[in-house]
Amino acid sequence: MPEEQKKSTCQICGAAKKIHNTSGFAACSTCKTIIANVKNHPEEIKKLWLHFHDEPVLPEPVSIPIPQPEELPDVVDGKRYRAVDRDQNKWYLSVSEVDGNPVEVFASTAFDRNHELQSRISNLTTITRLISLILRHIFLYEPLTMGKCLKQIQRSSRQKNDLPDMLYGVLSRYQNEIDNRSKKSIMP
Ligand SMILES: [Zn+2]
Repeated sequence: MPEEQKKSTCQICGAAKKIHNTSGFAACSTCKTIIANVKNHPEEIKKLWLHFHDEPVLPEPVSIPIPQPEELPDVVDGKRYRAVDRDQNKWYLSVSEVDGNPVEVFASTAFDRNHELQSRISNLTTITRLISLILRHIFLYEPLTMGKCLKQIQRSSRQKNDLPDMLYGVLSRYQNEIDNRSKKSIMP
């Protein structure tokens, strides 16, 4: 006697085919094979899945501890490097370290004392202040905020309308907008 040809909808792929009851699923013959493999050969399924999809079959929950921000110690180790730029200016590049990680950079050169080069110095200060901010964020988990960026840019300015001053003027508009938005969201 022929097997009962029960045509119905496959619960897995939705095809209208001959259906088999497979591990509690009403599955077509293709999905029956898939179910059997998932059930009996999970490691092979995982390997195949990773081959075709750039993610695990079931992403395992990973708890990522959020590190506490560390205070920058009053006394830090440091290394000083001498360098010469293409205009033959001598530079001292200092790197402060905490646990062997760079957390602040400073740069100085002879044109520090040249008054015509105030703008170069302020640009240089902006670079080192912002790099230091990023390094403290990476290695000491100091929160990186718009307010902190603005403060460092503002402090880099030496005179009105130098580059950091102009950037501060432009970027602080966004900070004001952010402030206004958060005030509005607090107020009913
Ligand atoms: Zn199916």
